[in-house]
Amino acid sequence: MLNYLDADIAVIGAGPSGARAAALLSANGYKVSIFERDSQPGIPLHCTGIVSKECFDFYKFPSSLILHEIQSFNLRSPKGKGAVVGRDKVQAYVLDRLKLDLHLVNLALEAGARLITSTEVKDLEWSEDHIVLNLNKNGSFEKFRARASVLATGYGASLARRLGFNRKMEVISGCQALVETSGDQQVEIFTGKNYGKGGFGWIVPHTKGHALCGVLTHKHSYKIMENHIKQLQKESRIGKVRSIYRTRPIPLGINGISVLDRVIGVGDVVNQVKPTTGGGIYYGLLGADAAADILSNALEANDLSAIALAPYEKRWKGIMASEIANGYNLRKLTEQLPDSMLEKMHKLLRIPGVKKILTSGSMPFDWHSGPLTKFVNLLSRQITQ
Ligand SMILES: Cc1cc2nc3c(=O)[nH]c(=O)nc-3n(C[C@H](O)[C@H](O)[C@H](O)COP(=O)(O)OP(=O)(O)OC[C@H]3O[C@@H](n4cnc5c(N)ncnc54)[C@H](O)[C@@H]3O)c2cc1C
Repeated sequence: MLNYLDADIAVIGAGPSGARAAALLSANGYKVSIFERDSQPGIPLHCTGIVSKECFDFYKFPSSLILHEIQSFNLRSPKGKGAVVGRDKVQAYVLDRLKLDLHLVNLALEAGARLITSTEVKDLEWSEDHIVLNLNKNGSFEKFRARASVLATGYGASLARRLGFNRKMEVISGCQALVETSGDQQVEIFTGKNYGKGGFGWIVPHTKGHALCGVLTHKHSYKIMENHIKQLQKESRIGKVRSIYRTRPIPLGINGISVLDRVIGVGDVVNQVKPTTGGGIYYGLLGADAAADILSNALEANDLSAIALAPYEKRWKGIMASEIANGYNLRKLTEQLPDSMLEKMHKLLRIPGVKKILTSGSMPFDWHSGPLTKFVNLLSRQITQ
């Protein structure tokens, strides 16, 4: 490393994607510093913490992160009719999202990375052989020099926008609250125009006696979440609201850049998110794996130009771009369906033979948009024939 530099790599953001990239780059022998704007990774909370079994197993997460196993969920029609969709084995887990973030950061620290909290990266400047981060550390301004940077700020951070990421993106917005419940709570998904165009609501079991109640929708997500909660309280399904999580935008579809000279973007900041559900933990981790690999090669070759980093874009898009594009198209298709059509589709879903298609192994949790689109088209044809 050039002796006037502070690190080889500056990772900006200590969410799952940044922490994973930091762990791998440190394990590859590079000196890594992670900058986190907030005082602790994982806080404030915003996420439900659902990951597929595939993701959980692949990243060898410890079982201490699991709050609940998900085998099935209850899909509610616009009129509130239920259809339990599931399999006879675990599909996914509800994880304690704070513990997940801390686990991933700890892996990075154990591999040798340094974590610097309460420090916002305000801007980047490029020099011939390094990059300069302008930091705001509790009101005092400092500079930090590194050979390259991993941008892992999540979606919509002002730094990312200034650098040209997240421009002209379509987004949906998610928000949720921790509520009191009594007894066992199943995962339930709520559909229909009450949740806005293309929107849906949920209840997901959380810690004992608590559930997360939230919505994902294009506009007025906070108001729609309030209505969702009020309705469930009216039905005596849930009790008091314990805390309301931060509302967050989620990018939809494939668009925009993912590398600059000496900069590589991972996670939500480069749209590594499923447009159907808004789930981004697994895709962000897969993106971080690809980024760490390509960046390590570029550091080794001492060529950190955007051209040298471009194979990263090809690599991550090869893994998930078609799923993201199909998921986006599926979202657009379902956004057009009136409640009457959704109600009819839901009725068909209650026929065991039809439901079996949905619950067969051909629709993996993270790679579902192709078969699900065929399924929605099949139901539409059945109804309109
Ligand atoms: C309501 C809701 C529910 C969700 N539920 C799920 C779910 O169940 N399963 C799932 O897979 N996904 C879910 N998601 C999506 C998931 O939360 C994101 O995809 C995931 O957190 C993205 O990880 P990330 O590391 O890219 O970014 P983030 O987790 O957003 O982390 C980015 C970090 O960067 C920091 N940062 C930002 N700017 C700067 C800066 N300039 N300097 C320093 N630090 C900075 C932030 O403080 C933050 O800690 C949900 C999202 C929402 C809104």
